[in-house]
Order: sequence, then structure tokens, then C-alpha cells
Amino acid sequence: MKMYYDSDADMSLLRDKTFAVIGYGSQGHAHAQNLRDSGCKVVVGQRPGGENYELAKQHGFEPMSAAEAAKVADVIIILLPDQVQGEVYKNDIAPNLQPGNVLLFAHGFNIHYGQIRPPKDVDVVMVAPKGPGHLVRRVYTEGAGVPCLFAVYQDSTGSARDFALAYAKGIGGTRSGVLETSFREETETDLFGEQAVLCGGLTKLVQSGFETLVEAGYQPEIAYFECLHEMKLIVDLIYEGGMANMRHSISDTAEYGDFTRGPRIVTDETKAEMKRCLEEIQDGRFAREFILENQAGQASLFAMRARSAEHPIETVGARLRDMMSWLKK
Ligand code: NAD
Ligand code: MG
Ligand code: MG
Ligand code: MG
Ligand code: MG
Ligand code: MG
Repeated sequence: MKMYYDSDADMSLLRDKTFAVIGYGSQGHAHAQNLRDSGCKVVVGQRPGGENYELAKQHGFEPMSAAEAAKVADVIIILLPDQVQGEVYKNDIAPNLQPGNVLLFAHGFNIHYGQIRPPKDVDVVMVAPKGPGHLVRRVYTEGAGVPCLFAVYQDSTGSARDFALAYAKGIGGTRSGVLETSFREETETDLFGEQAVLCGGLTKLVQSGFETLVEAGYQPEIAYFECLHEMKLIVDLIYEGGMANMRHSISDTAEYGDFTRGPRIVTDETKAEMKRCLEEIQDGRFAREFILENQAGQASLFAMRARSAEHPIETVGARLRDMMSWLKK
């Protein structure tokens, strides 16, 4: 697989274009400011009334409605929550698209699952930073970049691919390297990663370990440290040098326990269930469920959020983190 760097991208493709960043949230504030610092003309589409509207003003933008922003722009960057993109696209963006415009996404959900169906005469590309928006901004100001994926869904101008690479450079991605993918691959692997490993798998693993210790009579504070707090330290070692690097740093006792007990925790049955989760992503069942959930006003999401906020791991954790002077900075 080829990694693309600064020298592979031609920023002159961004010149003379007006960029509309729609949604000044986690990704939006980073894309808008990085692009502007890279010399691009940027307008922000953010509805008034919220803190992100004020933030955009503080950062020197004059936020306008999504429709106005889409109207004046050549490149429309859709950085709204995935569940509202379809509506905003239909009502505000589609009526203001001109032939030759570029629609740019940071995640493929709405295109891949057909919630946004652009006309044939615009380019549709993706530049997806592989990290949270706040890092995309901070790392850029430090002279580096967050790695990105890029993809072309529709190339009407003939320059969609080069444009996506140039955009990745504009937000700093090519400073650390960008990889090419497709909308389908990005969407399916992103959903799978967050469900099975990064978010769903991780939180359930940590919570189950915590509960096991507490139910056996150990102090919840000790359980919190063992099962949650230390997670970051272990993950940092894996991030820096792979599993072997982490295993090098831990005791032989820990390493022997890792090899012999780990496979009893994440079993063949777990992997079979991962495959079922992946199938539900691939055949659209997860997307359908999430779209219907949003049509129901996120009833389940609100209930699940409230319930998990009450779990002892959260209440104990909040108390402990209050006492950790180094976290307060
Ligand atoms: P966000 O929720 O942080 O920000 C969305 C912004 O849109 C907010 O400013 C909100 O006020 C505004 N908004 C919400 N509803 C609106 C409406 N109806 N009309 C107008 N504005 C509205 O979103 P985000 O996490 O930055 O995600 C944006 C996109 O980036 C998504 O496609 C997401 O999958 C993708 N992405 C996010 C991350 C991340 O780190 N958060 C990483 C990679 C890709
Ligand atoms: Mg969230
Ligand atoms: Mg992801
Ligand atoms: Mg995601
Ligand atoms: Mg230990
Ligand atoms: Mg060791």
C-alpha cells in the first residue's frame, strides 16, 4: 500500500476556490482553521444559537447558514453529525450545488448507505482524518499532521483524486502520510472498528473486569485503577511499538498471564460475534437500525447513555480523577 506525503500533493489545486465547512464541531473547527492557515478561502456554515457558532466567531469566521455557505462555495465539506447530513443536504446543500463543485466528507456513511445521492456533475471525495478533530487542529499548529484516508466516489471533473490529496495536504494530513481507500472500505471498517474493538469492545471489556473484581469484594477504587486507569499506559506502549513492545515492558508474570488467559477472555465465540457485527454493517442492517433510531429521536441512545452514566465505574472514576492533580491540567 502506498503512503502519500506532502510532495505527492499539489496545493495549487486549492487556489481560487471557496471552501464551505458545514458544521463547526470536532472535525469542522479543525478543517476550517487548518485550511485557512494553509492559505485557502474558507467560509463556515453553522446554525446560530449554540456554542460552536460563538466559537466560529471567536476564531474569526462569520458563520452563515448551511444554504448560504453552500451557495458561495466551490467545495462543500460536510462535517455535520452523520445522522443530520441527509436532511441538511436535501434542504440546504443540493439546491445550491453547481456543476463542477466538490462535495467532501470525513466519513462515508451517508454516501455508502444512499442517504445522500449527489448529482452526476459534481465530484464526491472523502478525506477522513484518523483521529479526533481536536488533535487534527492541535497537531497542525505544532507543524505536524494527523494521518488521513482519502477516497474518490465520483470523479466528474477528472481531477477529483488529485484534489482530495491536495485537500489532505491543506489540513496537514500529508505531513504524516495519507492512504487511499474507497467509501465502502472506510465506512465498513470504521463502523466495525468502533463497534467491536475501539469503543464497544473496549468499554465492555473494562466494565466486565471492573464488575468481576467489585463483585468479588475488592475495593472499587482498586478495581478502577487495575481495569481502566492502567489501560492508557498499556495502549500507549502498543501504539508506540506494537504488542511485543508492550510485552517487553511488562513483567514476565504479566506476559505469561496475557498469553495463557487472554484467549479465554476473547474467545472463538467472541470472534464469531464480531463476524456477525461485520455482516450487519456490510448488508446495511446496522445503518438501517441507526437511521430508524434517529427517526425515533434517538430514544434508545438517550436511555443507554443515562443508564451507563450511573454505573459505579463512572461514579467511582469521577471521584478518583478529581484527586489526580496531573489530570486537571
Ligand atoms: P460534531 O457533532 O462534533 O459537529 C457537528 C456540528 O454540526 C456542530 O457544530 C453542530 O452544531 C452542527 N449541527 C448539528 N446539527 C446541525 C443542523 N441540523 N444544521 C446545521 N448544523 C448542525 O461532529 P463531528 O464529530 O465533527 O463529525 C463530523 C463528521 O466527521 C462525521 O461525518 C463524522 O463521522 C466524521 N468524523 C469525525 C471524527 C471525530 O473525531 N469526531 C473523526 C473522523 C471523522
Ligand atoms: Mg458524541
Ligand atoms: Mg474511526
Ligand atoms: Mg466513526
Ligand atoms: Mg498490574
Ligand atoms: Mg517483559
